[in-house]
Amino acid sequence: GRPACECNNCYGGPDCSLFLPSCFADADEGDPLFLEPFWKQHAESSAVMVAGWHRMSYSFSDQTTLSQELESLLRKLHSLVGNAITDGKYILFGAGSTQLLSAAVHALSPHNSSLPASVVASIPYYSLYREQTEFFNSADCSFQGDPARWKNTTNTTGDIIEFVTAPNNPNGQLNEAVLHGPNIKTIYDRAYYWPHFTGIPSPADEDLTIFTISKLTGHAGSRFGWAFIRNEEVYQRMNMYLELNTMGVSRDTQLRALKLLKVIIKDGGREIFEFGYKTMTKRWDRLRKTLSMSNRFSLQKVPPENCTYFQKVREPTPAYAWVKCEWEEDRNCIEILNAAKILGRGGSIFHDDDRYVRLSLIKSDDDFDVLISHLEGLVSGEDGAK
Ligand code: PMP
Repeated sequence: GRPACECNNCYGGPDCSLFLPSCFADADEGDPLFLEPFWKQHAESSAVMVAGWHRMSYSFSDQTTLSQELESLLRKLHSLVGNAITDGKYILFGAGSTQLLSAAVHALSPHNSSLPASVVASIPYYSLYREQTEFFNSADCSFQGDPARWKNTTNTTGDIIEFVTAPNNPNGQLNEAVLHGPNIKTIYDRAYYWPHFTGIPSPADEDLTIFTISKLTGHAGSRFGWAFIRNEEVYQRMNMYLELNTMGVSRDTQLRALKLLKVIIKDGGREIFEFGYKTMTKRWDRLRKTLSMSNRFSLQKVPPENCTYFQKVREPTPAYAWVKCEWEEDRNCIEILNAAKILGRGGSIFHDDDRYVRLSLIKSDDDFDVLISHLEGLVSGEDGAK
């Protein structure tokens, strides 16, 4: 058997088969290990081996075609999946989409204007948008929260940069831009716009759209994202940010991304997207069934979408459950879940009510099993709790 130290935190014994009921179910981070079994099945074809002398140069003096190959593979993948139109758009690579999000805010902010841009995102929103904008503390922009306050008003406050996350983190909704107009710039964060999580009703065809390998292949640790940009000046400004910040994306990372993409593109993405969709569907079925007995906890409702990739109308299978505590006294939902040994993220992190909690559904099978087991315990104790 495996040594105990290799067991998941919820399992022990000589062969890790002993369930330890006292453990915490960790549904906090959006770590996409649900795809690990897929890569175990493709261990050999997805492996990368690099000799010590290989690819030592800075990217600007590397005359190989690595980046061009990666670029054309990404364009091909989007056209196969039908989730983005890439013709006539510039492409940039980043250290995860995290770096590109901040490059985009920089590029869309006015320079040397006395009126800084307002950065906004609909509630509930991914907290990084606010954290980045506040931390980098640029004189050219400031985070202003929800775009609703600018809707239907004649704006006199200068440029507005709206983040649109579609599907949204945390609640899985296919968000659309709230604000439109000549002084509105929109950054589309499409980290989850893949058949694992949502129907693909139509290809994204926006001025600035950001994707990441993290939620596509699951390789969050490789730190690789890409952006499609229509406008040349915006592209140049983002490029300058990336050059000054990190001088491009690690070639090791690009090499690994290329290898992984080659594996998934071989059959037009069929195998990985069917695996992802099936895994997520099974998880949502189990979660729905577990909470169907509950009047204390409810799940978000996301409307079905037509999926041009699977050629059918399908239920969405979001990466996160956005759980609401329905009982009047459960104002702080995360406290209730923590007491039942479940870790997640409270609503206020997404600038929403603490009646909500985000639970990650994209971690490993073991993590998900423990989550369901603890939720079952919580739901079965409901009568006694009131
Ligand atoms: N955007 C959204 C909506 C996310 O949920 C995440 C990761 N959780 C990211 C961007 C950042 O991903 P990465 O930097 O790994 O590409």
